[in-house]
Amino acid sequence: MSKSLLADAGERLQMALKYVSISEDATEYLKYPQASLTVSIPVRMDDGSLRIFQGYRVRYDDTRGPGKGGVRYHPNVTLDEVQSLAFWMTFKCAVLNLPFGGAKGGITLNPKTLSRMELERLSRGYIDAIADFIGPDVDILAPDVYTNATIMGWMMDQYSIIRRQISPAVVTGKPITMGGSLGRETATAMGAFFVIENVMQKLERIPQETTVAVQGFGNAGSYIAELLFQAGYKVVAVSDSQGGIYAPQGLDIPSIREYKLTNLGIKAVYCQGSVCNIVEHKIISNKELLTLDVDVLIPAALENQIVADNAQDIKAKYIFEVANGPVSSAADPILEAQGISVFPDILVNAGGVTVSYFEWVQNRSGLYWTTTEINQRLKQKMVEETDTIWDISHKLSVSMRTAAYVHGLTRLGDAISAKGTRD
Ligand code: GLU
Repeated sequence: MSKSLLADAGERLQMALKYVSISEDATEYLKYPQASLTVSIPVRMDDGSLRIFQGYRVRYDDTRGPGKGGVRYHPNVTLDEVQSLAFWMTFKCAVLNLPFGGAKGGITLNPKTLSRMELERLSRGYIDAIADFIGPDVDILAPDVYTNATIMGWMMDQYSIIRRQISPAVVTGKPITMGGSLGRETATAMGAFFVIENVMQKLERIPQETTVAVQGFGNAGSYIAELLFQAGYKVVAVSDSQGGIYAPQGLDIPSIREYKLTNLGIKAVYCQGSVCNIVEHKIISNKELLTLDVDVLIPAALENQIVADNAQDIKAKYIFEVANGPVSSAADPILEAQGISVFPDILVNAGGVTVSYFEWVQNRSGLYWTTTEINQRLKQKMVEETDTIWDISHKLSVSMRTAAYVHGLTRLGDAISAKGTRD
């Protein structure tokens, strides 16, 4: 049997433990998810039939604050995956010093096969099933793969109906009209952009002379491609779940985004078109995109894309993990041996949860900030933590990934020790 995703995630913890002296108790705590809930969600389909969907919510650790993390709708969702994603959220929130623990949720389905009404009933049913497990001070939801503001709005409304009080702070990434934050939609990409910009300045690289390939054209992938394009980078390849396109002279990202979005009807929850339908470019597979001869590779889709089998074929100099867990622990040493620098998910994609934190603060205070304020605060946090991790990496002569884990683990260890035990 192949190693579980959670066991693989745990390898990074073991690696970092060599450099951090935290208590044995804290080490033991962090090995296991605190609570895992599995639910069956009955949904009345449009044709009158009943379908039962499998859903999960996992709180990995809440020592530093209420659990925080998104909800994923995908056919490959399993409890193991959700636990790993909750583990990463725990470290991500610690790395960014947000007053949150880590959590995650998911439902196993292909959401594109459901009608909008079915999707709404499913999303509300999920909240009915997990309502006692979540809350603004317990565990706060957000979007993830194939979930978005529309779905977060339904979830927040359902939770408010159950509690009989308007509870915007139980979900972040909501529509602006329901208490969502300005800048949340673009936050993951914007955060990643601030990290990339900071690193490129340190390395004295010029955007115009830097080629980029982006795997994944969802919320994070399409925005990061656009932000890099606007900043002058040469984005030569992008892809979505159906495949990708490649143009060595550079792609016109705004027109590709526009193409994707015009295929999104007002009533549709998901884009129907694929970037591969843009026929004037060379069509490549998602696998081929990963091994292109580019300077910067940005996996922005799913986990386990770069593994022991294809790590030796990667030609990029820098990998920025916008997806969660796109590089397996077995691939890490292979990439390192080739001199490829990997900038880890728990730093690079943390802009999403950081603006989620800002949204939660705004919901609780009732005072709302401007886009400029949000992006300034986001930039400050991303740059500060990137600088710290960069320094740790140089001081200890370890990868940026190990340095990020050392940084997060130190904060988590201190919190667990401060809480004490009841024995
Ligand atoms: N799903 C995003 C992530 O993996 C955002 C989580 C959140 O905002 O709570 O970081």
